[in-house]
Amino acid sequence: MIAPIRLVPLLPMSSEFVSSFVHPLRSIFHTKIIVELPLNNVLNAVYDDSRLQYNSTQLIRELLKEFPSSSSKIIGITSVDLFVPVLTYVFGEAQLDGTAAVVSTYRLDNAVYGLEPDPILFFQRSLTEIVHELGHTYGLYHCKNQECAMHSSTAVEDIDLKSAMLCNDCTKQIGVSN
Ligand SMILES: [Zn+2]
Ligand SMILES: [Zn+2]
Repeated sequence: MIAPIRLVPLLPMSSEFVSSFVHPLRSIFHTKIIVELPLNNVLNAVYDDSRLQYNSTQLIRELLKEFPSSSSKIIGITSVDLFVPVLTYVFGEAQLDGTAAVVSTYRLDNAVYGLEPDPILFFQRSLTEIVHELGHTYGLYHCKNQECAMHSSTAVEDIDLKSAMLCNDCTKQIGVSN
């Protein structure tokens, strides 16, 4: 079995929403999925008041402080907008072949684009990006297969072209077994 996954809701993200990823993630990674208690203080520590966004690289660092020397994969899930200094925004960030990752659902919500809310699409996009960032923590690079969750996405339209599943090559590479 590959390393277990710890899902960490970052308030105000709801634990219920985060818990809805347990079953699909278990069927994709075939490992133990744990939902941690929500963290309250980490986002404040990484807020950039000139950009009005939250620094994703610093957020990963804060997350690692909360889970020192963990042998699990740790993914923080947040509803606020994340950035890295060279980009306008990011959907998430991960330590390649490392421990921690973060995902933001902020730009996965139709409401941000002035469109009708679509809860099923929102869930699907969120799952896809969680799988993508977790894939990086297991050592996966971006995949050329356009339907694979590890295909890179810079806009939300790109996410809608792929699935939440890993392709056979990526699955094989991280050693997922039933
Ligand atoms: Zn990526
Ligand atoms: Zn792939």
